[in-house]
Amino acid sequence: MIADNIKVIKDDIQRICNQCGRDSNSVTLIDVSKTKPVSMVMEAYEAGERDFGENKVQELTAKYEACPKDIRWHMIGHLQTNKIKYIIDKAYLIHSVDTYHLAEAIHKEAAKRNLVMDILLEVNVAEEESKFGLGNEEVVSMVKEIAKLTNVRIKGLMTVAPFTDNPEENRVYFQKLKQLSVDIAKENIDNVSMNVLSMGMSGDYHIAIEEGATYIRIGTNIFGVRDYKGANE
Ligand SMILES: *Cc1c(COP(=O)(O)O)cnc(C)c1O
Repeated sequence: MIADNIKVIKDDIQRICNQCGRDSNSVTLIDVSKTKPVSMVMEAYEAGERDFGENKVQELTAKYEACPKDIRWHMIGHLQTNKIKYIIDKAYLIHSVDTYHLAEAIHKEAAKRNLVMDILLEVNVAEEESKFGLGNEEVVSMVKEIAKLTNVRIKGLMTVAPFTDNPEENRVYFQKLKQLSVDIAKENIDNVSMNVLSMGMSGDYHIAIEEGATYIRIGTNIFGVRDYKGANE
């Protein structure tokens, strides 16, 4: 069942990329396994999946220990500075950096371990009150500041678009994130690349791919609905 769900999404990636002239290898599916058991991660793994997303530190580290080591674990949820130490050598990419304070704390923890942590800056493109993420106006100056931290490396931008029944409504936000990344790339800032755009979830990934997503983060459409309230937080 999980394998079938993955196949549907992979076929969509292929078809949409063909339609809009993109290389389908430029879009990577992240299987968002939050709240779901290791057995389900392993089902997806057996189907060939290697990129998984978690939004809680404790769940990421537990699954990291239990699962094969060639999985790339993506931290996609809000991250507290005091928990960075638990994931610094386990996360492949942190998608949710939205303050200088957090970037600096990641930099310090990475320096202690003598590694460089890849990060994305999370942008609240729709400027929703309830959401984490940088405001659109802050992004460029924040990139420039964080770029000076030697043990983090900015790879691109991430957004969580508004929840909506009509995914077309989110197209404008995906376009905005793409435009922001193009604008930043033009500035040729040292230690910054803008090759990664993490956007699109179960309800709106079709649109996100059309607008340039390189990572889509899908939970529900692979693993089914999550059973406890707050799982989206
Ligand atoms: C839960 C979550 C997802 C996956 O959401 P679905 O709608 O279940 O596909 C993607 N991104 C983030 C940041 C999430 O927290």
